[in-house]
Amino acid sequence: MSATTTASASGVSSSSTSGSYDALVLGAGWSGILTALRLTENHQKVLLLEARERVGGRAFTHTYDNNSKGSGDRTVKGKKSWGVEAQRDGVQAVDFGCSWIHGYYEGNPVKGICEKLNIPVSIPTPKKATIVGPSGALPEDLVQKITSNLSNAMSSAQALARSWSSGSTPASASLASYLLAHDSPLFSGLTDEQRPLAEGYARQMHIPLGTTLEHVALRWAGFEQNFSGTDAAPEGGFTRVIDALVEQFVQQGGKLASSEEVKKIQSQKEEGIKVVTASGTYEAPVAVCTFPLAVLKQQEANLFDPPLSEKKREVIQRTNVGDLNKVMLVYESAWWPKDVGTFTILPSSGSSSTAQGSADLPALLAKTTLMVGADTEHSRLLVMIGASAGRDLESFTRPQVADALHAYLAERIPVAGKGETGVQSPSHNFMTRWSKHALTGGATTTPVVVGEENSPLDFVELSKPEYSSHLLFAGEHTDLHHRGSVAGAVVSAEREAARALAFLEKRKVNQKHGGGGGGGVKERRKEEVVSDDAAAKM
Ligand SMILES: Cc1cc2nc3c(=O)[nH]c(=O)nc-3n(C[C@H](O)[C@H](O)[C@H](O)COP(=O)(O)OP(=O)(O)OC[C@H]3O[C@@H](n4cnc5c(N)ncnc54)[C@H](O)[C@@H]3O)c2cc1C
Repeated sequence: MSATTTASASGVSSSSTSGSYDALVLGAGWSGILTALRLTENHQKVLLLEARERVGGRAFTHTYDNNSKGSGDRTVKGKKSWGVEAQRDGVQAVDFGCSWIHGYYEGNPVKGICEKLNIPVSIPTPKKATIVGPSGALPEDLVQKITSNLSNAMSSAQALARSWSSGSTPASASLASYLLAHDSPLFSGLTDEQRPLAEGYARQMHIPLGTTLEHVALRWAGFEQNFSGTDAAPEGGFTRVIDALVEQFVQQGGKLASSEEVKKIQSQKEEGIKVVTASGTYEAPVAVCTFPLAVLKQQEANLFDPPLSEKKREVIQRTNVGDLNKVMLVYESAWWPKDVGTFTILPSSGSSSTAQGSADLPALLAKTTLMVGADTEHSRLLVMIGASAGRDLESFTRPQVADALHAYLAERIPVAGKGETGVQSPSHNFMTRWSKHALTGGATTTPVVVGEENSPLDFVELSKPEYSSHLLFAGEHTDLHHRGSVAGAVVSAEREAARALAFLEKRKVNQKHGGGGGGGVKERRKEEVVSDDAAAKM
C-alpha cells in the first residue's frame, strides 16, 4: 500500500494515509463524511478519499469580504472563523450548494447534527413574495389566485397518482400533461390572458425538480415522504457544519486524503476491495462509494472491475440527474423594494420549456422563470435557475452572466425612482457550474421521470451492495424518500455505516471461527440449529 501525505481540506491536520484500513470511504460530501465518522466512532480504521482539494461536495459556502468595497475579487481566501465573529469582521457566507435544512422541526436529522456540533441555525421570518409578469408586478389578488391554484393543482395531481390506474396515469404521462392541461385546476378562474402567467409560475418548479414538468412522471407525484415545513439555515453556512464533522472524524483517528481521485474500484473477492488513485493503491475489507449519480453514469463502465451487476448498471443509466445553478449579485446598497424577500420573475417571452439550447443569454433569461432571493440587509440578490436553462447558463463566462442578469433584473424588477443613470452595477458576483463539473455532473437526482420501467424502486436498487457486500453505496441518489437533499445523504450514510459495521462484525466472527468468507457463520449456525433441536426435545 502506498503512503501519501495530505493536508485535510478542512485545515484540521496533516495525516499520513499509509496503513491498513477496515473501510475505505470514497467521496467526502455529506454522505461520505458522515459514513466515515460513524465508522470511526465505532472504532474502525477508516480512510476517506476525496478527488477535490476541498471537502463537502455539493455543500459549498462562498465567503466574501464585505469591507473591501469595489475591489474586483472579494473572495475570502483560506479559512476564516465562522458565525457572529466573522460577520463582525465583514465576512459574508452564502451557500451555493445546499442552503436549507428542510423540515427542521419536522424530523430532519440535520437538526440533531447541528445541535451536537453546537452550530446555531437561523429560521428566516417570512417576507413578501412578489411575482413579476411581463408587464410588471402582478396585483396581490392575482398572486393569491395563482399561488393557491398551483397548490390545488399539485394536490390533485398527487391524489390522482395515489389513486393509481394505468388509464389515468400511464407511464408516458408527465406532470406537465396534468398541470398544464386546458381544464387543470392551475387555470381555475383565470382569463385567457392570465393563463400564461400561471404556467410561468408553475415552471418555477423546474428549480427544485432540476428538470422540466414535461420530464417528471405523473404517476409517482408525491410518492416521497420527504421532510418539509420549517426551513432553517446553519449560521456561517453548510461548509461550517462539514468542517466540524471532518474535524471530529480526524480527531477520532480517521484519515482524510483530498486531491485523490479514484480511478478504479476492484473486487479482490474474499479479501475485499482495492481502490486505485493516481498516487496510490488502498485495500480494505469493505468500501463505501458515495460518488454522485452523474459521476456513476459517466464512469461506471471503466471505474468498476469487474463491472457492476447488469441491473445496477441499467438503473444507473435510466435514473436522471437535474440541473440547478445559482448566481449572486452583490450591490453597494439594495435598490429593490425593501419589504420583498423573493421575486419570482416570469418569462417575458415564450414558454420556459423552450429555453433549451439558447446561444443568446438575454433570450435564455427571457424564456425562463427565475427565483430571486433578495437580502436587503446585505444588499445582494441570489438568483436560482433550474433545469436545462441552468445548464445552458454554464456556456457563458461569469462576467457575461453577471452583466446580463443584472441588466435583465434591473429592467424587470419594479422599483420607483431608478433615476436617469439606472440601477448601479454589482460590486461582486459569483456563480456555480454544477452541471459541467466532472465530479458533480448536475445538481441532484430528479424525481422519477416518464418511462414504463422507471419507478422509485430504482433508488433502492442504487443503494444495493455489490461484490458480495464488500462494496456499498451511499449518497442522496440512494435514498427512497429523501433523494436530492442533505437529509437523503445523511439517511444513506447512517444506513451504509450500519451495513458496513454489521459486515465487519460478521467477518470478524467468521475469522474467529477459522472460516474465510461465510464459512464460520455457516458452522456456527449448524451448532445453533443442533441446540435449538435439543431445546425442542426438552
Ligand atoms: C444548487 C444546489 C442546491 C441545493 N439545495 C439544497 C437545500 O437547500 N437543501 C437540501 O437538503 N439539499 C440541497 N441540495 C442537495 C444537497 O446538496 C445534496 O443532496 C447533498 O449535498 C449530496 O451529498 P452527497 O454526499 O450525496 O454527494 P456529494 O456532496 O456530491 O459528495 C460526493 C463526493 O464525491 C467526490 N467524488 C466524485 N467522484 C470522485 C472520484 N472519482 N474520486 C474521489 N472522489 C470523488 C466529489 O468530489 C464529492 O465531494 C442542493 C444541491 C445543489 C446542487
